[in-house]
Amino acid sequence: MASTLTFLGAARTVTGSKYLVESGGTRVLVDCGMFQGLKELRLRNWADSPVPPASIDAVVLTHAHLDHVGLLPRLVAQGFKGRIFCTPGTKDLCSLVLPDAGRLQEEEAERANRKGYTKHHPAKPLFTEEQAVSTLIRLQPVGYQRPIPVAGGLEVEFIPTGHLLGAAYVRMRRSDGSSGTVIFGGDLGRYNRPILQDPSDGSATDVLLVESTYGDREHSTEGEDATLAALINQTTDKRGKVIIPAFAIGRVEEVLYAIKKLEEAKKITSLPVYVDSPMALGALKFYQDHVAELDDEVAYRRHGEMSAFCTARFTPVATARESQHVVESPGPAIVIASSGMATGGRVLHHLAHGLPDSRNTVLFVGFQAAGTRGRQLIEGSQEVKIFGQFVPVHARIEKLNGMSAHADASEIVRWLRTFPAPPTTTYLVHGEPPAQAHPRPFMT
Ligand SMILES: [Zn+2]
Repeated sequence: MASTLTFLGAARTVTGSKYLVESGGTRVLVDCGMFQGLKELRLRNWADSPVPPASIDAVVLTHAHLDHVGLLPRLVAQGFKGRIFCTPGTKDLCSLVLPDAGRLQEEEAERANRKGYTKHHPAKPLFTEEQAVSTLIRLQPVGYQRPIPVAGGLEVEFIPTGHLLGAAYVRMRRSDGSSGTVIFGGDLGRYNRPILQDPSDGSATDVLLVESTYGDREHSTEGEDATLAALINQTTDKRGKVIIPAFAIGRVEEVLYAIKKLEEAKKITSLPVYVDSPMALGALKFYQDHVAELDDEVAYRRHGEMSAFCTARFTPVATARESQHVVESPGPAIVIASSGMATGGRVLHHLAHGLPDSRNTVLFVGFQAAGTRGRQLIEGSQEVKIFGQFVPVHARIEKLNGMSAHADASEIVRWLRTFPAPPTTTYLVHGEPPAQAHPRPFMT
């Protein structure tokens, strides 16, 4: 049976993952991600779906990062009525990230209207918190490695990729075998990292979509702990703050775990560690709930609620009022707040207050897409615009590559070698053109 695959996002860019499969009159969408970064990309979030949302029979999700799930509430608001299949971990994390994204959209629109820094009158949210909440009832959790029919004779199976709690690659085929197999790689995790298990091996497929975020780079984890310790100690000596913009789910766990290990090894003094994100705190609980899926190192260390991730002076920050108190409080301290690319969220308040102070360090621990404040900062911008105001940058700006949740070039190739046979066609998705075009001499 003829099937078609249409790339609706994450094509020569790292965000907006969205693929449409049409097979025998059935339409299934794999991922429904938000475009982030450059304005020309973000504007695509407002574009109408190329097929009516009501005509899509089911959605399948690889994992709960916003660039893979962030447009689901809009799809539902525009008429999608089917089920959204995902793993239990993805369902849990979606219950945090989608309402939070809706709330941020509403707050940003409200602030833009109040302060008048919008060209739109009035500025509107892409979707609301309420629309996000009403999307959650469509999520249908399915365990790993259990093929399940999703619509019109198409079945999918989720296989862990070690990228995030619940993350999977999706193997899709027709139940009657009348069509080939396609694997949507989702985002590929790392090998030999402490929180999540290694990516599962590949399995037989005709078509493969593989991410290429770091297709041109190797993550150096060597000396990473020493680097982290040094910059925490140097900032502490100046009585400054280490501000870490982090994706509220995934990276926060890894950052906390690294800080905890440095404390235990007495490489740093125990500082107040503020996790200024209700969503990150919620995600920590879900990581604890699903501890059996995590790396053995974390499972063995567990003694009680969240303990694997709790530093000695761990301080959860729940309310906006408490957050403001932390923004204004003196160092030394470590502040972890989202969003990871400084495109929104509470970290913006910490940056607006902290960037002009040379005692502070801003530490990026993940990929910074073109067009984001994070990219501007790591490229050395002397000022960044936050809430419509230019903020001078005097703080030290640093980046740790090793904490990425994405496989590097060698790890992508390592994973590709686990397939029992080369797929007939392999598409590189979820990467910027230089990373995708990079020659790989080690493949020969
Ligand atoms: Zn991801």
